[in-house]
Amino acid sequence: GKPRVVVIGGGAGGATAARYMAKDAGEDLDVTLIEANPQYTTCFFSNLYLGGYRSFDSITHGYDNLASNYGITVVNAMADSVDREAREVVMADGSKVPYDRLIVAPGIDLIYDSVPGYSEEAAEVMPHAWKAGPQTKLLKARLDAIENGQQVVMVAPPNPYRCPPGPYERVSMMAHLFKEKGYDDCKIVIIDPKPKFSKQGLFTEGWEKYYPGMIEWYGPDVHGGIASVDPQTGEVETDLDTFRGDLVNVIPAQKAGMIAASAGLTNDSGFCPIDPASMRSQADENIFVIGDASIAGDMPKSGFSANSQAKVAAMTIRGELTGSKVFPAKYSNTCWSLIETNDGVKVGAQYAPSAEKIASTSSFISQTGEDDALRQATYEESVGWYKGITTDIFG
Ligand code: FAD
Repeated sequence: GKPRVVVIGGGAGGATAARYMAKDAGEDLDVTLIEANPQYTTCFFSNLYLGGYRSFDSITHGYDNLASNYGITVVNAMADSVDREAREVVMADGSKVPYDRLIVAPGIDLIYDSVPGYSEEAAEVMPHAWKAGPQTKLLKARLDAIENGQQVVMVAPPNPYRCPPGPYERVSMMAHLFKEKGYDDCKIVIIDPKPKFSKQGLFTEGWEKYYPGMIEWYGPDVHGGIASVDPQTGEVETDLDTFRGDLVNVIPAQKAGMIAASAGLTNDSGFCPIDPASMRSQADENIFVIGDASIAGDMPKSGFSANSQAKVAAMTIRGELTGSKVFPAKYSNTCWSLIETNDGVKVGAQYAPSAEKIASTSSFISQTGEDDALRQATYEESVGWYKGITTDIFG
């Protein structure tokens, strides 16, 4: 029969890889996509859902096109482990899916206990909403229930985590919601384990312009370190102070999705070393790791990055299994953030493999003080990007 390519994880990385292999080599390759959930809600634009710019439905996508238009076998079930010796994925129900090449794209898992007092159960009270779906809806419901004068506390994540500007875009969207309701006495406090953050100058400028006095950011030199959270009282204890939130959004530390570790693909960092020229796992020549689970050098963990890495892995595998031409790897990323209606900013770069890592070759970032028209154009660019990338991922 045809060579078999199996993909674990139908997110930004995995679904793109499956679609590109099926689209470009469907005659010659047997492509299977294993995804735990029947639908996928994008984390990208989930902050815009929180801010009221998007519906939940508009950020939720299914797998029907991939199955019916591209002939991909979509298995809606959890992969439990990888038998690298036998080259089989072992499913949670014990069934086996054999492969010639495997792409592992499980995204992230949260390290709940990186914040003492936090847990999967605590996340029902202090949502993370760092994996989209029910958590996103929970955070939105809790946010909508906030009254004027109440306080939101965000515990921001340590590096490396998915979507470096994501927490700060989220705070902007929360503030937008409060401002729109006339809740001028609401406060949002960010307790950050990092001394600085992505697009800091741009966010700080925007927060002062649109939401004066509403958002307070505390780095480690102010709070001394995050000690614990208490879901019972809504308190965030730091070395120097205690903060109380009517809503607490805890975003803990992150690691590669569990199956990556159980398959032996991770190193001490909790993420997977790869060959920068192909996204091939350094642990197994028949396995590729893409997206948030991989150690992608200078590339941030983003949907754009995952989609870009997927195309390199798909091209490499197609070349190996069908003899098609393999071009030198190139990668790119842009992260857009919305600060207030029609005020979008972006940061991005092009990348190429060096001997040690995926290295940035050129980059760009929005500037402070840009005029309204440019900011609106940047926002509109992000709307076009969302439509384009979700079509590129899900067909
Ligand atoms: P995911 O998209 O998480 O996909 C992994 C999939 O694998 C999931 O569907 C999961 O169900 C499945 N899976 C995991 N394990 C198994 C298993 N064992 N068996 C079966 N299925 C499994 N990125 C951008 O580019 N632009 C943005 O504007 C942006 N905004 C963001 C905002 C927020 C609030 C957040 C949290 C993230 C944002 N991101 C953004 C980041 C982006 O969502 C991630 O980087 C991207 O989803 C990573 O893609 P992935 O394929 O690695 O993982």
